[in-house]
Amino acid sequence: MESPSIEKTAGPPVEPDVDAQLQSVEGELSALDANLDMGLLQGRLIDTRLGLASSLFQTLRLRDRITADHSLRVAMYCAAWCEAREDDESLQDAIEVSALLHDIGKIGAPDSILKQPGSLSDEQQAMMLQCRINGLQILSPCCDSPEILETIAMVGAWYDGSRKEFAKKGSNLPLATRMISIADAFDSMTHDGVYRRAVTRERAINELFAYAGTQFDPKLVAEFSAFHERGKLDLNNQVAKNWLDELTASDSRRRWQISKPVVEVVPKTEIREVIVPQVDMASVIGELFHDQLLETVQDGVIYTDMNLNVTAWNRSAEEITGLKNAVMLDQLWRPKLVKMRDEEGRFISDQNCPFRIAIETGRKVQRSVSIRGTSGTARKIDLNVEPVISGNGEVLGISAALRDATSKENLENRVEHLHKKATLDPLTGIPNRAEFDRFHKEAVERHSDSDSTCSLIICDIDHFKSINDQFGHQAGDDALISFASILQRTCREGDLVARYGGEEFVMVCDSCNATDATKIAETIRKTVSETGHRELDGRCITASFGVTEVQDGDSAETMLRRADRGLMQAKETGRNRVVQLGTGLTGAAVEACPERRSWFSWGGTKKDPKLLVQTKLGTKVPMSIAIQKLQGFVSDHQGEIEKTTDDSVTIRITSADLSDCRRRSDRPIPFRLQIDFEETVAEDNNKQTEMNVRLLIVNSRERRAAGGEDIARRILRSLRAYLMAFEVDEKLEA
Ligand code: GH3
Ligand code: MG
Ligand code: MG
Repeated sequence: MESPSIEKTAGPPVEPDVDAQLQSVEGELSALDANLDMGLLQGRLIDTRLGLASSLFQTLRLRDRITADHSLRVAMYCAAWCEAREDDESLQDAIEVSALLHDIGKIGAPDSILKQPGSLSDEQQAMMLQCRINGLQILSPCCDSPEILETIAMVGAWYDGSRKEFAKKGSNLPLATRMISIADAFDSMTHDGVYRRAVTRERAINELFAYAGTQFDPKLVAEFSAFHERGKLDLNNQVAKNWLDELTASDSRRRWQISKPVVEVVPKTEIREVIVPQVDMASVIGELFHDQLLETVQDGVIYTDMNLNVTAWNRSAEEITGLKNAVMLDQLWRPKLVKMRDEEGRFISDQNCPFRIAIETGRKVQRSVSIRGTSGTARKIDLNVEPVISGNGEVLGISAALRDATSKENLENRVEHLHKKATLDPLTGIPNRAEFDRFHKEAVERHSDSDSTCSLIICDIDHFKSINDQFGHQAGDDALISFASILQRTCREGDLVARYGGEEFVMVCDSCNATDATKIAETIRKTVSETGHRELDGRCITASFGVTEVQDGDSAETMLRRADRGLMQAKETGRNRVVQLGTGLTGAAVEACPERRSWFSWGGTKKDPKLLVQTKLGTKVPMSIAIQKLQGFVSDHQGEIEKTTDDSVTIRITSADLSDCRRRSDRPIPFRLQIDFEETVAEDNNKQTEMNVRLLIVNSRERRAAGGEDIARRILRSLRAYLMAFEVDEKLEA
């Protein structure tokens, strides 16, 4: 049925914004995924239930995938509902078929209406009504069940009779219709439409109740809701399988016969009379897609027999190809007639013709092709060729649907354009900061899951302000573009170069340690300093670089801050240079300190409920150097020094950065790190430093906060990495 008015009440119509379009593209993709497992089963199910009419359903699927998937779900809801009600088989049978075909009229609806956001204009409503009538006209010649035809004809009627175009109301409406109306609205509300977001099932049930008595049969709404509560309406493979098991092939053919259209469908969609004479199937197989259907579909439809002689060529096919039906009928089909080319622009030969392939293999063929009609302009076409197979498995011919792909292509272009806009810097054309953040975070997370490493280079053009001042902003812009292109030329495949902002750029080097990343940075530095710029009167610019490799306990933020510290040091020590900071993954510290879960005594001790862990670390450097390294740790974690003495320090660290690496805790957890230093002399006579480390939670009530234990562990791992420390001793407090 066309938009149930429930759509209007299920939330305000969403404007046709780009988000929605993107969403619908994503939705289509995920629907495709979801359809894969059940696709096979559903295909058989449709074939068995609908017999010959399954080609109609497949046509709907090609024309309007969303509606076809919706119809299938409605049918499955109805099947589950009937099963729960223990209805007799004939009702179940009729309701399933009617549900599958209730929207069949949409085959003929133009895209502008199918994709129309919000409510339809009067004219559009009239057009939809006409489509419904057409749908019935398509069905009537091949369906020999008056119940089914009436059920479908009445879908869309309101229980209180307020839709005057329907002749019946209340309990005079077929039971199947009343049930389908409810399942239909429920499914429409709980699935994303083209411009409408799905609502929760609970909200959908509430909406059904809100319209019980007006749009819907109130008793049936209560029943549907009760069965839904009890999980009896869950769509699953079992329901579908039950259908198949119950049905035999003769069942499926029983109802569907080819016949001449004899049902007169009056504009009020009330069926007066159904007379169905039996006709020899084989002789009229070409009438399966009879004139009505052919003339209403928007897609070009071509139908050939097994010798590729054209038996049908509809008006849309005439429009697309410029070749008239009168000329094409009984002609041998050849791709040359429409100058058909493949995806690469090569002419398609008779041998490779999708029509022929479908006949030879008995399988459907889908291709993106282009067609140059007699008008001379080429059009992109999504071509779907289905073999027509008789009851005993013999290929009788093909039906081909030609869909103009230009509008789809426009949408794809738009999506691509938006994606570029969201991820690329407009001046230099390289990825922007948002894209860098995403890519870098993923690289750091990948590192925590594997042995792979990655490095980060951050660079900033030296004295850029004076370049602008001296040569003008435009020259500055040009210099930025050249700088970006040098970075891009130097980076390896799989690396990401991005503009971080202003005259600052970043490069994420995947599977690259600090030594190699420093070499890359050095190469760039040298190239930049030797490249003259026309816009700067042939002068060169220089840049400064900070480099770091991911290290244990890092988050994307700590890694970035460390690289930035390297950059700052490069600036402070004279510019036009590379400074590398950090231990990287190859540092001895990591190997010497495997993960020690036993460290943690969540829950604290009686003595100090806030204490999480106490451990002793050693590092083979004098105390002054250890403290210097600790400064890096404090700075990159944005720690706050609370207290210092000659040989101790207390640091407050908040988990804001660390928590989001894997699990995002509800709010940042503050920790306190107490370190007592002691300088000793090692066996080799070198000075070394021992540190007594205590990690506490600031607020003992947060001990069990989500992810807190993980974060504490990361803080300690990170501390060890910065100090290049090893474990001297451990003492469990528990
Ligand atoms: P330093 O060596 O310390 O980095 O000095 P600097 O002058 O490069 O650094 P500062 O941060 O003081 O100035 C950066 C300048 O970059 C200021 C700003 O006008 C300029 N800038 C930022 N974005 C653009 C841009 O898109 N185009 C141009 N032409 N200039 C830009
Ligand atoms: Mg600068
Ligand atoms: Mg700067």
